[in-house]
Amino acid sequence: MNIILLGPPGAGKGTQATLLVDSRGMVQLSTGDMLRAAVKAGSPTGVKAKAVMDAGQLVSDEIVSGIIGEALDGLAPETGVIFDGYPRTAAQAESLDEILSTRGRTLHHVIELEVDEDALVERITGRFTCANCGEGYHDTFKQPKAEGVCDKCGSTDFKRRPDDNEETVRTRMTEYRAKTAPILPIYEARGIVSRVDGMADMADVSTAIAAVLDGK
Ligand code: AMP
Repeated sequence: MNIILLGPPGAGKGTQATLLVDSRGMVQLSTGDMLRAAVKAGSPTGVKAKAVMDAGQLVSDEIVSGIIGEALDGLAPETGVIFDGYPRTAAQAESLDEILSTRGRTLHHVIELEVDEDALVERITGRFTCANCGEGYHDTFKQPKAEGVCDKCGSTDFKRRPDDNEETVRTRMTEYRAKTAPILPIYEARGIVSRVDGMADMADVSTAIAAVLDGK
């Protein structure tokens, strides 16, 4: 099964994708994560993408669609894929159709996480992760149990994304509204869009997504 998780920054796409990876053995393809890895590695793609990402704008369609195609080529055909943060423009949605069909894959569901944008700014600007294992935390909603120590791996090293500041978050939301939300009708016309309340508790969001995937 191949699915898209769609929603503005901070809607919980990454969190829900991780839960699906754990519960269903699907693979998460996050263009944001892959781009951050490219920036960290200092690859030509990373060098090109860094300033655009730091400004909260969108990296070129060619770059992200190229990354997605390559990532899919590394997967067994029967592996289910969660597209997280891709596609983000009409051109990417078109590329994804071709990328999937040339690999014999079909898109089964597009799940839109519906959220309140003002609450998202607080969600995003407070988030941080363990620099070692990637476990997610939040200044207000989820501090580590022992201050400064990761619950999962014990590391004392944490990091924040450079683009998780208020000004950049507002730009990312504007980009979402202008370029990403308009692709929903493409999938609505195919009857594969489901909407889930992204402001609910993480576990409830996850249950709602499971119900969509299981056809309940
Ligand atoms: P994310 O982790 O999904 O919030 O993405 C972080 C940043 O990476 C975005 O603000 C964009 O600059 C870039 N990015 C990630 N995915 C895409 C995409 N599909 N198209 C264009 N830019 C992207």
